[in-house]
Amino acid sequence: MNLEILSLAQVGLAPGGFSMTYIVIIGVSMLASFLISGTLKRRFNEYSQIPIRMTGAQIAEAMLRQHGINDVQVICTPGHLTDHYDPTKKTVNLSESVYSVNSVAAAAVAAHECGHAVQHQQAYHWLGLRSKLVPAVEFSSKMLNWLMIIGILGIGVAHSPMMLWAWVVLFGVTTVFSVVTLPVEFDASRRALAWMESSGVAASMEHDKAKNALFWAAMTYFAAAVGSIAQLAYFLMMALGGRRNEN
Ligand SMILES: [Zn+2]
Repeated sequence: MNLEILSLAQVGLAPGGFSMTYIVIIGVSMLASFLISGTLKRRFNEYSQIPIRMTGAQIAEAMLRQHGINDVQVICTPGHLTDHYDPTKKTVNLSESVYSVNSVAAAAVAAHECGHAVQHQQAYHWLGLRSKLVPAVEFSSKMLNWLMIIGILGIGVAHSPMMLWAWVVLFGVTTVFSVVTLPVEFDASRRALAWMESSGVAASMEHDKAKNALFWAAMTYFAAAVGSIAQLAYFLMMALGGRRNEN
């Protein structure tokens, strides 16, 4: 599921697509996410040049072991920025540029993904809630795409108040998901940094750089959530306004 593609397609196809307000909302959130991910990439490239004594895989193994986690596997996954924790398979998936690389950036990413494994082990509330929302989000994204297709085809019902409310509810589900993602991501980074500090894998200067990289990673999620809330508020106002006109 790619929410970025969804938000691109929404320009012109969503209920508010042709209004100036909506174009401004989409434009500002896309610009913010573009600037933030640009900063994130620059910081990661910079911190990829700072060596530490362990590779990403070794960092991950050490962090899991020190948390008493023995049933989670650390594996190498193809691609760039494809790092993630898979709670169903219980695997910490590290990309090639993290798995076998000994840099501050690789260490930060590896420890962050292990932060999710620790959340899983400790049944962290927000992670459980986020996992439960996944099927609803997949369904809602699919339905939003269908509603956009109905809109392109110009079927009359596309602009009915009922369709607008359906849009608000479905978009609301994806917005709740992006908000619930925030505590999960912030907490994983907090756990990563706490462990890096206590285990002494990174000197204090390196620790500050890892913290900075994880901050910008978290900001990408923050910008996505704020953009989503702004759009939802706009759709909601449209739906409420439409109903007022009818009365
Ligand atoms: Zn994460």
